[in-house]
Amino acid sequence: ETRQKSLLYLENVSVSFDGFKALNSLSFVVEPGELRAIIGPNGAGKTTMMDIITGKTRPDTGTVLFEDTIDLTKKDEADIAQLGIGRKFQKPTVFESHTVWDNLELALNRSRGVFATLFYTLSPEDKARIEEILETIRMTHRRQEYAANLSHGQKQWLEIGMLLAQEPKLLLVDEPVAGMTDAETAETAVLLKEIAKTRSVVVVEHDMGFIRELGVKVTCLAEGSVLAEGSIDFVSNDPKVIENYLGR
Ligand code: ADP
Repeated sequence: ETRQKSLLYLENVSVSFDGFKALNSLSFVVEPGELRAIIGPNGAGKTTMMDIITGKTRPDTGTVLFEDTIDLTKKDEADIAQLGIGRKFQKPTVFESHTVWDNLELALNRSRGVFATLFYTLSPEDKARIEEILETIRMTHRRQEYAANLSHGQKQWLEIGMLLAQEPKLLLVDEPVAGMTDAETAETAVLLKEIAKTRSVVVVEHDMGFIRELGVKVTCLAEGSVLAEGSIDFVSNDPKVIENYLGR
């Protein structure tokens, strides 16, 4: 049997907590360069799926492969991060007392195993990379701003920039637009599409307007497995999705 090369491949993944099936034979595939949206009600298993991909939780059964051959169920969290899987949690965690530039510099150094130092000399290539990230996250003119002074949306973008400094092949993003203004939400859709030109991105969101703006394939989870998958119009018209999620 041959199948197309995938970046991330989950097949029949199940995990129970105290007898409760958080994931129930979940199958999920992400192609290289794909931007995918995940929706679903609370308790659907979205966070658990991310925990399995990043090695925080081990599945009871099932297959989890990265780049077709790497068995993620045999790797720990640090190994998985090193392989090129970055995760952004819902709450932004930036260094408030450092500038935007220094946050990116710290992230770049951290990706090389150099922790908590700004005295590590940046090469011209590193400086160019930070400039490039600043442009991507729309903060070229805010490089000297202290992170504490940024809006909530800008902090989210800065943290995405810090993850980009680690050059992930796959970026997992949890509810990025929660708490953002409408303008920031619209800008985040553009930003994620831009980022997905050079890597794969999986974004969990409840904001259906934002999902529609992304215009990408959507996976709806419920009760630990895939309820529906396809375009936003296809998924949002599925009676099972309306019953379990949208109609609630
Ligand atoms: P979602 O992110 O879609 O809201 P979760 O993955 O957080 O869903 O949760 C799925 C189910 O698994 C929930 O009922 C939750 O209470 C349960 N669950 C998740 N993680 C654990 C855990 N570590 N221990 C016990 N139950 C958990």
